[in-house]
Amino acid sequence: MPLTPIAELQTIIQTHIANRPLALDSQTLPLAQAAGRVLAEDIIAPVSIPSSNVSAMDGYALAQATPAQSSLKIVGESAAGSPFTGSLKAGECIRIMTGATVPACCSTVVIQENVIREGDCIVLQQDAPDAANIRYTGEEIQAGQTLFAAGRILRHADIMVLAAQGIASVAVQRKLRVAILSTGNELAEAGSPIVAHQIYDSNRPMLHSKLRDCPADIIDLGKLPDNLAATVQMLHQAAEQSDVVMTSGGVSVGDYDYLRQAVAQVGTIHHYKVAMKPGKPFVFGQLGSAWYFGLPGNPVSGFVGFDLFIRAALWQIAGATPIPQPLRFQAALTRNVKKAAGRADIQRAIISQNSDGTWQATPTGKQDSHRILGVSQANAYMILPQESGDLAAGEWVTVQPLHEAFL
Ligand code: AMP
Ligand code: MG
Repeated sequence: MPLTPIAELQTIIQTHIANRPLALDSQTLPLAQAAGRVLAEDIIAPVSIPSSNVSAMDGYALAQATPAQSSLKIVGESAAGSPFTGSLKAGECIRIMTGATVPACCSTVVIQENVIREGDCIVLQQDAPDAANIRYTGEEIQAGQTLFAAGRILRHADIMVLAAQGIASVAVQRKLRVAILSTGNELAEAGSPIVAHQIYDSNRPMLHSKLRDCPADIIDLGKLPDNLAATVQMLHQAAEQSDVVMTSGGVSVGDYDYLRQAVAQVGTIHHYKVAMKPGKPFVFGQLGSAWYFGLPGNPVSGFVGFDLFIRAALWQIAGATPIPQPLRFQAALTRNVKKAAGRADIQRAIISQNSDGTWQATPTGKQDSHRILGVSQANAYMILPQESGDLAAGEWVTVQPLHEAFL
């Protein structure tokens, strides 16, 4: 079977998910808890902002455009929260503060720096044109306009906008139930001593950690031995209680790699091998109504596979529109890089910005898929194209920052 290019696998996953949307219930959350959640309703603005004509500056409100050198008597005040309720006669003005309502009898505001104050009078130092320094009703938001559409991943800025609208709670999609399990006879749990043929399970804690930034409630199903019957039984159980099942290990072609066989028995495999290094075996399928992602056991492969395929898929399954995309840009290689054509290479790299604003990228040493420390040292991936061979220092490559490495 030919290897699927990365972009094609992303499209395959997206298309399958789009063709079989999950019916998710929504839940109502207080606004302060809603950032990072998928909005389940369109939000129509209940109020206009500003809700009245307000002054943009501290100064004086005048009845009309007035020439420089005019002297005006101050007959009242409008402050934020306490409007002026009187009226103006010719030659009069009011003191006004930022955010205070401009009364109906006034058509312009002069800033206090442009007047000389003499007792209860001001003398204009410049012409005061009409309609200056006023924010008009509904200038920013009109009551009735759609502020946010269902599917938006709520941001802190959105919380500010919704709060300014007097909205105290919003309906968001419930989180996905994501089951994770590791496979491998060699795996041991942290906290227990190990013997030489054992290794600690690092994939499940890593997936746990990554899922904390995703719309996911985690169902930790522990680890499985390399045994077909046990795997089949566990996949049935996992599919029944979750929206997404994620496994690590057992998807290669070794004698004890049972996952593909088990998934094919319980559900359907949509995709198997991707033209990528690390992480060529990447199983995407479904188990009943649950989506299935099978990551290879090598920790770096799983780490990279999650970032390239699973994070966006989870947001899509959770109802996010548009599907969020990672930040990517160009950086110049600081050294020669060896690469074989045929698979895209997702190398771990350190990127930094030069004084001229351009970026440079240096790979973090050896790139084998078991070298976990290199991922911690890196702050970005370098995405080296499938067809490319060796690359020379100075060549431009696409980089994707590790989102947890930048604040
Ligand atoms: P597999 O994909 O099952 O053939 O595993 C590939 C490599 O990854 C082997 O060296 C495994 O021991 C290792 N591995 C598998 N699962 C894990 C895990 N959960 N944590 C750390 N390493 C693992
Ligand atoms: Mg294994």
